[in-house]
Amino acid sequence: MNKEEKKLTSASGSPYYEHENTQSIGPRGPLLIQDYVFHEKMAHFNRERIPERIVHAKGSGAYGTFTVTHDITKYTKAKLFNKIGKQTKMLIRFSTVGGEKGSADTERDPRGFAVKFYTEDGNWDLVGNNTPVFFIKDPKKFDDFIHTQKRDPKTNCKSPTMMWDYWSLNPESLHQVLILMSDRGTPYSYRHMNGYSSHTFSLINKSNERIWVKFHFKTEQGIKNFTGALAEEMRGKDPDWAQRDLVNAIESEDFPKWKLKIQVMTQEQAKSFRWNPFDLTKIWPHKEFPLLDVGVMELNKIPDNYFAEVEQSAFAPAHVVDGISYSPDKMLQGRLLSYPDAHRYRLGVNYEQIPVNKCPYAVNNYQRDGFMRVDGNGGSSPNYYPNSFDDVEPDESYKIPPMELESNIADWYDRNAHGEEDDHYTQPGMLFRNVMTDQDRVNTISNIITSMKGIEVPMRDKIINRQLCHWFRVDIGLGKAVAEGLGIDVSAILEEMGIR
Ligand code: NDP
Repeated sequence: MNKEEKKLTSASGSPYYEHENTQSIGPRGPLLIQDYVFHEKMAHFNRERIPERIVHAKGSGAYGTFTVTHDITKYTKAKLFNKIGKQTKMLIRFSTVGGEKGSADTERDPRGFAVKFYTEDGNWDLVGNNTPVFFIKDPKKFDDFIHTQKRDPKTNCKSPTMMWDYWSLNPESLHQVLILMSDRGTPYSYRHMNGYSSHTFSLINKSNERIWVKFHFKTEQGIKNFTGALAEEMRGKDPDWAQRDLVNAIESEDFPKWKLKIQVMTQEQAKSFRWNPFDLTKIWPHKEFPLLDVGVMELNKIPDNYFAEVEQSAFAPAHVVDGISYSPDKMLQGRLLSYPDAHRYRLGVNYEQIPVNKCPYAVNNYQRDGFMRVDGNGGSSPNYYPNSFDDVEPDESYKIPPMELESNIADWYDRNAHGEEDDHYTQPGMLFRNVMTDQDRVNTISNIITSMKGIEVPMRDKIINRQLCHWFRVDIGLGKAVAEGLGIDVSAILEEMGIR
């Protein structure tokens, strides 16, 4: 920069010569209201915070590169996968879910795993978590559920009573709660965890054939978790531990990597799968639907400016690209609406013009105006379609194939209540008995007991008994161990459940 370019100026570009002393009457004051620079500095400072995300407020971001290693073109025509060796720039934002922007990185919580691929067909956002399932299967429950993870309306403290009350009344949460209570609920750092689309999506190939898909990012750093005790210690020692870990690794060129894999299920297989393949509280077993390799994601750059590139980053599951589409998953359908809506509230209607969110390839449409329109607003080009002046047209080759639905009857279906989808226990049982090591089981039981001990009177016994019934249904040994840890005599519960 030459001397002219280095001048200190007001936001409107007017040079000024004094930065630290406000104009005053005499050296001791009072101040003059005409010192506009003081007002501008203060006014801007007062407005530095934008609304924090209601969920996933505390996060860390990095840029990286996705490289295709295997051919999946028989399943998808998505251009980012069309050639082995092809590289696509991407951004990731990891996060915790329930805490505020300043909360500790090692809280027991799922971790957000949101990836934005800057593809030539537009930005593809895969907005998942570090767990393959979620607490609820209908988006209408989301606000109630999240309230239980936030602060008690009276005490303004986190409340195990609210959490366990809600979970015990919504047993569909059990699978996710078990993972949350295992040491995977307190990952060592963002580098040492997997990421999952969790939802089922569609892949569509060149012949316009649809196949259902789940995406998995498998960490190359290896799974590493804190025990409950070490996570608690780290909350006090370094609340920003995961952010620091990510920055240190990338700045020292120890670039973290994940392998992207997919599971696919044909539409025919979906019809006879013993669980609803679009139920977000269920996984597809690997033995029946093996993981297929796709590519490698490497994170190699920390954004230069956290606010501009991480706080202002906005991911939405609605942002898919040609060759990738939605599924009937009710939670996904709900998120298609709510994520862009949340960004419009938090960042404004033109949030996709913010450089980190902006598609680096062609964007043409007739949306105009709105707060903070910063891209020239289409200049003098037409602002309506059709028109006789430009030659911008929809391209029918991008049309997605029709989706076959299972019913044409609109209703409010509580599928749990009708006994169709009330198996909340088999899959957590598979995890507890077949996947967890002995040490995992010991630590999970201990974490559950520690957390449930926080449930307070007057509802304590009621909530504990209700939740114990769920743990027993997952695994009798698990139920017994939790009951013993809480000092509860379970003979009455066992009798009621017909368990001797
Ligand atoms: P598999 O044995 O084929 O796979 C088990 C999976 O569980 C692996 O992906 C493993 O991930 C993961 N895992 C290991 N320990 C834990 C833990 N403490 N908490 C959560 N996940 C863990 O089994 P299935 O595919 O038949 O699934 C059995 C159970 O495993 C499921 O009910 C589910 O709870 C869990 N699971 C299944 C996944 C799936 O998509 N099928 C994905 C993740 C979990 P890693 O390889 O990274 O260690």
